[in-house]
Amino acid sequence: MKPPFSPSNRFLDEAKALACVHCGLCLGACPTYLETGNENDSPRGRIYIMRALQDGRLPMADAAVRHIDLCLGCRACEVACPSGVQYGDLLEATREQIEKRYSRSAFQTFLRRTAIERVFPYPLRMKLALFPAQWLKRFGMDRFLPKFAREALSLIPVNAKSIPLPELSPATSAQKQGRVGFIRGCVMSVLFGDTNASSVRLLNQAGYDVLTPKAQGCCGALYAHGGNLQRARECARHNIEVFEKLGFDAIIINAAGCGSTLKEYGHLLHDDSAWAERGRQFSSKVKDLTEWLSQPGGEPSNLRSQISDLVTYHDACHLAHPQRITQPPRELIRRVAGRQFVELPESDVCCGSAGTYNLTEPEMAERLQQRKIENILKTGARTVVTTNPGCILQIRAGLDKAGATGIQVLHIADFLVATAEGK
Ligand code: SF4
Ligand code: SF4
Repeated sequence: MKPPFSPSNRFLDEAKALACVHCGLCLGACPTYLETGNENDSPRGRIYIMRALQDGRLPMADAAVRHIDLCLGCRACEVACPSGVQYGDLLEATREQIEKRYSRSAFQTFLRRTAIERVFPYPLRMKLALFPAQWLKRFGMDRFLPKFAREALSLIPVNAKSIPLPELSPATSAQKQGRVGFIRGCVMSVLFGDTNASSVRLLNQAGYDVLTPKAQGCCGALYAHGGNLQRARECARHNIEVFEKLGFDAIIINAAGCGSTLKEYGHLLHDDSAWAERGRQFSSKVKDLTEWLSQPGGEPSNLRSQISDLVTYHDACHLAHPQRITQPPRELIRRVAGRQFVELPESDVCCGSAGTYNLTEPEMAERLQQRKIENILKTGARTVVTTNPGCILQIRAGLDKAGATGIQVLHIADFLVATAEGK
């Protein structure tokens, strides 16, 4: 067993940890607490566990780690908290210590350190890994696999398109607005090439030249959420270097999970004097696609209303909570859907995707997936719009399981392009 934490290496920021006054107002916002009703699966309970781990009152062992592992990192608790507790920071710091000090099972170690960390951030490796999975699904061979593998495969689209983006996509509207950089994402570039192309097209139609630097890399979100902050910082430094020398009005991202991390580079690098300011400058330019397009004069001119079926919207956690962006996507959807837009009950309760959570914690992920699907079915919507690749895959798989195959799940960029072009 590793030695307890000395005053010099206590991992939680004391002021941030003590900001929790145990009021419990966050409990009703926490998806895992809603499912289990267990205080240890609530934000308040987890903060107590984190402090107990740091103080040595609890060992870094299975019981405590289990409750921290079960956290989705959705940060709904931050929005609900009147004391401004920065739960995400506490969670990342705790997870970093868990990964350093706690021995996971061989399966979980392989899943986290190899299958996830050495594949997902590398588009070519991901394509190679997906090929046999797509083949198994296409020929219905996945039914012979164990439940865990079937669940994982249910997330993978058989006809995913990887469309490389040109480095420069010029504005197509008569009135030029400026020049933006575009983050193509790892999962987005492999599984959602169409969506990236739609996003760039919307920006071009809105008057922006779009540069997609080839040298950009993984945003680091996957590492940060998994407790590998050192690797997340390396990703941040690389992207800052690539983008800062090109000079942009904004850096646009269309994946909520990545956007949240890109906006926190300044914080991620705050202890590194050579990079902290550069991180802050970079983050200040990062905008979610919906945030950028919904600003006055920012939207493409050819959006028009022509929807006859009901449309609803699922709030991706990392857009609604850390970025607090809930109205811009709704405004854009309402512009084309008008009265056909219906609110989704519990729209901002996590769908269970949460990055790679549906791979590492499949049981809770499935419970939340079912909860989300039940809420979608209540709306009568034929289209679910959202802003994050993981949510799209998770909700599509849930609708398939429920036999609701007539309901489409679209990224907002694809939804806007499809309606603008009358598809
Ligand atoms: S995290 Fe915030 S809302 Fe939750 S118990 Fe602590 S102070 Fe209250
Ligand atoms: S991040 Fe999400 S799952 Fe974790 S404690 Fe907060 S609300 Fe609950």
